[in-house]
Order: sequence, then C-alpha cells, then structure tokens
Amino acid sequence: MTVQCPCGRYIENASEFKLLFLKKEQNEIDILCPNENCYIRELGYIKFEVKEGKPKFKEASFYPPFVTWNVTQLGKDEAQRQLKQMLKDLITKYVDWDRLVLAEQTQQK
Ligand SMILES: [Zn+2]
Repeated sequence: MTVQCPCGRYIENASEFKLLFLKKEQNEIDILCPNENCYIRELGYIKFEVKEGKPKFKEASFYPPFVTWNVTQLGKDEAQRQLKQMLKDLITKYVDWDRLVLAEQTQQK
C-alpha cells in the first residue's frame, strides 16, 4: 500500500505521517507530510470534540491536492480506498487520544 505526496515522498504506512496538535482551540490535528522539505506540508486534518473530558473523533480528511495527486497516480477507486484506510489507521492506531485529553485539561487550568 503506497500513496505519494505531490513532493515525491512515498508513504507506505500511516505511521509515517507526522501528526501536529497545535490548533487546540479548534480541536484539530494536522496531518503532515514526512518530508521536512515538503512544499505542501499539510496533507489533511483530524477533527475531534471533547465530551465529558474525553476526545471523540468527529471527522478526518485529506486535502484536495494530496487526494487529486494520488487519483492521477493510482486511479480513483484505488486512491480513495488507500487514503481511506490510511485515515482509519491514523485515527485508530496512531493518534494518542489519551494525550489529547491531558492537553485539553492543561489548557483549561
Ligand atoms: Zn510532501
């Protein structure tokens, strides 16, 4: 399973993406390209909401330039299938939801 960033970097596994939790007030995590010299950097986002002190997944998506690039490389069906699986892996395996809770509580003090 390989998708590619328009910068040329191949991403074989969802674990290769960098996750950046900066937009605390918006409850949003940026999905970044693993290539530090990437000219796009932000490839997508994960949004969540906090309910009773626990973060709940809300929505996630890759941005159009990244999606479009992979559609031209892999074909529409294959690209959508792989990107969807990568989002799923990110949400279920690689986002540290417990740490998000801590970050939220620290912010409120
Ligand atoms: Zn890139």
